[in-house]
Amino acid sequence: MTNNRAALGEMLTDLVELGAIEFRPEPIDAIVERRLKAIWAARSCPNCGEKSLHALDDSKRIWCGRCDWKTTYTRGTPFYDSELAPGEFLIAFILYADTHLSINQIAFLLSPTYKTLHGCIKETESAFVRGFPTVWDRISQTVGGPTQVDETQQECSGYKGQDPPREGLDRGGSPDGGRTRWSGEQGDELTLVAGCRDELRVVSAEEETRYDEELGPVIEEVDDLSQPLGEVWTDELPAYQAMDHDHQTVCHDDEYVTDDGVTTNQVECLWSLIQPWLAKFRGLSKQGLEQAARSYGFLRSLNLSHAPVHGIVDCIAVNVFR
Ligand SMILES: [Zn+2]
Repeated sequence: MTNNRAALGEMLTDLVELGAIEFRPEPIDAIVERRLKAIWAARSCPNCGEKSLHALDDSKRIWCGRCDWKTTYTRGTPFYDSELAPGEFLIAFILYADTHLSINQIAFLLSPTYKTLHGCIKETESAFVRGFPTVWDRISQTVGGPTQVDETQQECSGYKGQDPPREGLDRGGSPDGGRTRWSGEQGDELTLVAGCRDELRVVSAEEETRYDEELGPVIEEVDDLSQPLGEVWTDELPAYQAMDHDHQTVCHDDEYVTDDGVTTNQVECLWSLIQPWLAKFRGLSKQGLEQAARSYGFLRSLNLSHAPVHGIVDCIAVNVFR
């Protein structure tokens, strides 16, 4: 085994090696097929505009009864034409987004080649992040109360515009292999901004240097996902006074909760969860950090609202045809 510096998951890996744990994607394959076919059946034909399409339980095919247009139910999703089964995608994505296991470790648990799995997870993540707002809009009608907003600095990898080299893909170079040995120049810093409202968690990465410009996009996004926005709570920095939302501030030098009950504890809690999760990447590009942080926030929202696994499937699939 090469990934012998993992902070977590070594014993789990041993259990898999001993044959004590086996992943069975079939039950999830069935969920994916059912959800995707339901989405297709509710769509109109892209060829002739017929109001609905046909899907049968025992066939992968989707077809139009009027013009005979055909496709397969995975079309337009990351599951289409992949060597991984949909259930394997989902297991890999959940292990990636909901645990501290590295993609390397997940690849070992599930057995496909690392490169394939990395691509599958990133593709699934991108579809998940894109589809979340639509699905969230449908599943949560009860989001209310104040929005807590806070920011924190996060360093990117020194590799401009790309992730650092991955373990297992090194060709030559360091005899020890593995990017734990990598010591490039320090990367750029991004500001992570999070907005928490009830169960909703929105995280974004900003390059702006003015406080109100950093916080603005997240506040607008929380507003989009849970309107009307109402009160915004943040810690106290002078630039924030310029923002045109109703807001209350808590000054952390003095107290964590004001007499009025104003606090940013939800965001502090989110940081305490997301920081160790981000650490497993050992450096991300700006783009990679932005996507990873967003997907963590959205998955956390689904977890907090006790959404079932098919909630993730819906996020991934909802943009088929768009
Ligand atoms: Zn048609």
